[in-house]
Amino acid sequence: KLFNELQELKGNIRVFCRVRPFLPGQGAPDTVVEYIGEDGELVVTNPTRPGKDGLRKFRFNKVYSPAANQAEVFTDIKPLVRSVLDGFNVCIFAYGQTGSGKTYTMTGPDGASEEDWGVNYRALNDLFKISQSRKGNINYEVGVQMVEIYNEQVLDLLSDDSSQKKLGILSTTSQNGLAVPDASMYPVKSTSDVITLMDIGLQNRSVGATAMNERSSRSHSIVTVHVRGKDTKTGSVLYGNLHLVDLAGSERVDRSEVKGDRLREAQHINKSLSSLGDVIFSLASKSSHIPYRNSKLTQLLQSSLGGQAKTLMFVQLNPDAISYSESMSTLKFAERVS
Ligand code: ADP
Ligand code: MG
Repeated sequence: KLFNELQELKGNIRVFCRVRPFLPGQGAPDTVVEYIGEDGELVVTNPTRPGKDGLRKFRFNKVYSPAANQAEVFTDIKPLVRSVLDGFNVCIFAYGQTGSGKTYTMTGPDGASEEDWGVNYRALNDLFKISQSRKGNINYEVGVQMVEIYNEQVLDLLSDDSSQKKLGILSTTSQNGLAVPDASMYPVKSTSDVITLMDIGLQNRSVGATAMNERSSRSHSIVTVHVRGKDTKTGSVLYGNLHLVDLAGSERVDRSEVKGDRLREAQHINKSLSSLGDVIFSLASKSSHIPYRNSKLTQLLQSSLGGQAKTLMFVQLNPDAISYSESMSTLKFAERVS
């Protein structure tokens, strides 16, 4: 319901802001978050300028307090997720600095129980369940791909051979939206399929990480859910796809301090995140040219950005005062695209 209302108010881009809680053992350091309003208002405070001068106010479609749980967040986005069954293309991102809760929102904490499941598990589970229970003439098939974009290369996360072959992106004009045709695709028919696929993807994502320590924060991971619905009476077919994207950390890397691989990673991340910002900004400002081709990320997501597609960005924030400048740059990114 929330979505239908927002749909009428705004374009097809929504921004939800989620503030992560202080972590156990972190105590309660100074916070950057001054106020969270139920109407999507967020006030942050500059720790070096106490008082009114240091306050900045932002407004998004929704702002979650650190107490918000996974089920609550999913309830708000369920209508958006389900619209894929009606043939819509949908893209849900998590944007923010490393440690701000992107993976928590999209996947959940390590070894999550069902209660802690993030958007990926819940969306997959919900889609296959609803697609099976819907009455009427439409037969649905739900399939999943998982890829990672690292240094502008697309890698298959569901491949059973560990060679991590590099994949090409196909122009997404094809009707079924198979943007990465060579990435492994698996059908989802049960909750245990969902769990198995997520496990394989998460494991493959961390395999690459041993060599380079925490690579997950420097790559984008994308779960794509393909839905195909066939009307058994008329024979007509509808397609919808859902992209669920855990973006690379948005933190600024000081160019003077990193070299070699780290510098190259940082440059690729900067380029793809700014391309994403440019695409969403161009869509929001109804520009006639949308610069999809500037990064692998935006090429891959083209079918679910713009046109009839619906986009949701989770803007993730660290609550602590030390993160003030990163939080401000995250908020400015979000403000530009919303
Ligand atoms: P990111 O993916 O942005 O680097 P993570 O999702 O890994 O960040 O979150 C960093 C840490 O904070 C993890 O230990 C995670 O479990 C925890 N965390 C993040 N968001 C929440 C939340 N809403 N509630 C509880 N713990 C959270
Ligand atoms: Mg992460």
